[in-house]
Amino acid sequence: MVPEGQIKTNYEAVIGLEVHVQLLTRSKMFCGCENRYGGDPNTRTCPVCLALPGALPTLNGAAVRMAIMLGKALNASIRPESSFYRKQYFYPDLPKGYQITQGPIALVEDGWIEIPGDPAVRGAEGFIRVRIERVHLEEDAGKSTHDLDPDNSLVDLNRAGVPLLEIVGAPDLRSAQEASDYLKAIHHLVTYLGISDGNMDEGSLRCDANISVRDCGESRFGTRVEVKNLNSFRFLRQAVDYEIHRQIDMVERGEAFGQETRGWDAQEGITRSQRSKEAAMDYRQFPEPDLPVLRVTIEEIAEVEAQLPELPRVRRDRYKNGFGLTDYEAEMLMQTRDFAEFFDEVAVQCGNGKQAANWMLGEVSRSLNESGKNLETINLKPTELADLIKLVASGDINLNTAKEVVYPALIAGEGSPKEIVISKGLSQVSDNAAIALLVRGVLAANPQQLTQYRSGKLGLRGFFVGQVMKAGQGRINPQVLNAMIDEALASEEF
Ligand code: ADP
Ligand code: MG
Ligand code: ZN
Repeated sequence: MVPEGQIKTNYEAVIGLEVHVQLLTRSKMFCGCENRYGGDPNTRTCPVCLALPGALPTLNGAAVRMAIMLGKALNASIRPESSFYRKQYFYPDLPKGYQITQGPIALVEDGWIEIPGDPAVRGAEGFIRVRIERVHLEEDAGKSTHDLDPDNSLVDLNRAGVPLLEIVGAPDLRSAQEASDYLKAIHHLVTYLGISDGNMDEGSLRCDANISVRDCGESRFGTRVEVKNLNSFRFLRQAVDYEIHRQIDMVERGEAFGQETRGWDAQEGITRSQRSKEAAMDYRQFPEPDLPVLRVTIEEIAEVEAQLPELPRVRRDRYKNGFGLTDYEAEMLMQTRDFAEFFDEVAVQCGNGKQAANWMLGEVSRSLNESGKNLETINLKPTELADLIKLVASGDINLNTAKEVVYPALIAGEGSPKEIVISKGLSQVSDNAAIALLVRGVLAANPQQLTQYRSGKLGLRGFFVGQVMKAGQGRINPQVLNAMIDEALASEEF
C-alpha cells in the first residue's frame, strides 16, 4: 500500500460529504417532546414520535428558521416552496417504518462555504469554495444498543424525531485533509450560529463520506464508495485516506469494483463492506400526506436574515483588513462567537485591534486555560481589559507591569485597573526631572563602565538602562529613559 496521507501523483481523489446536524430546538421536529440528549430511555416520547396510529405530525417552526439561517450563512437560495417525503425502511429504532425527510426539492439549495485548500493536492495555499448542493430538514431515528443485554437489542426512542439538517456537499474535496477541514468549517458555522451544540461524542454532528478516485486530468468521476456514520474528525480523515489507497490499489491491480456502502472499523483502522449497490435499499419514497407544502415568505426570510450574526468569513476579512491581523490570529479569535464578540468590544473600547488581539490570544487565553473558566465565569469585563490596555498605551504603566501585576490582580477581583495601579503604587515614572536624576546617579556611580563605553564598548548601554530601571523599580517609562540615556552618554557633562 501507498503510505498513509500520501497519494500517488497520477491519481486524484474526489470526495463529497453528507453532514447530519442535530438542531438545538426546544422540542422535536414533529411533536412537543423535549429535544435533549440523554434521559431515562423512552421517557421523552409521545404518540407522534412513537408512531401510534392516528397521531399527526406538526412541523417545528424553529427548525425551519434555523435551516433558513444556515442557508443564508451558506450563501444559498431558500426555496419558497418545498415539501416532505416518506423514506421507507424497516429498522427497530424507526417506529413509523419510515423517516420524514425532504424530497427532490429541498428548502435550501446551491450554496458554498470557504475552506483552506490542501496545498499538497492543489499546489498552492489559499481558500477554496466548496459548493453545497442542498440542505434539507428531516428527523432522526431512535437508538439501538446491542451490547447492554446479552440476549436482546435495546431500543431508546428519546432521539426519534429529533430535528436534523442534512447538508449535502458537492464532490469538490480532493484529500482527507480537505474533507476534515470542510467538516470543521461546517462544525464551526453551526455552533457559531447557535443552531447546534456540535457535540460529536453525543452524535449531534456526524457525516457520511463519499469517496472515489480517478486518473489526474480525467473529467468524469470514478465509482464512489460511501462510508457511513463518521463521528469524529480523526475517523473521517483516517477513513478517507484508507479508502483512497484501497481504491487506488484496486485500480492498479485492474480490479473492477462497484458502488457500495461501507462502515469504518475504528479498532482495525479499515473500512468494511456493508452493502453493494445491487443490495441497495429501495426506499419507495412518496410525498408525506400528513404535512402540507412548506411555504416560506420573503418576509420570513428577511426576518431570519436580520437576526444573523456577522458571518465568520466577513468577520475574518474585517479583522485582517481593519485591524491588520494575520489569518491565524483571526481564526484563533473566532474559534467561538463569544470570544470574537468579547474581543470586538475590547478593540472598540481601547481603540487598538492589534493590542486587543495580543491580549486576548495571550493573557486572556492563558488564564482561561489555566482556570478552566470561560468568558462568562472569569472575572473580566471587556471594558476592564480595554482600560488596562489604555493605561499601557498612555505610558501610565509598562507592558510588563500590566501583564505581571495588574492583570492577575484584575481577574482576582482587586478592583479596576486604575485602582490597582494606584493601590499598588505602580504608576510609571514619566516625569523627566525624576528620571534625569536617576540617570545621573547611575552614571556617577559607574565611572569605570562609562570609560569603557566611551572607548568603544557600546554594548554597555544596556547595562546603564538596566541600572536605571532597577533604581526606578521597573516603573520608568522606557521611551523617556532611552532618549535620556542616549543624551547623557553623549554629553560632555559626565
Ligand atoms: P445519494 O442520494 O445516493 O447519497 P447524491 O447524488 O445525492 O447520492 O450524492 C451524495 C453525495 O455523494 C454528495 O455529497 C456528493 O458530493 C457525493 N458524490 C457524488 N458522486 C461522487 C463521486 N463520484 N465521488 C465522490 N463523491 C461523490
Ligand atoms: Mg447518501
Ligand atoms: Zn414526541
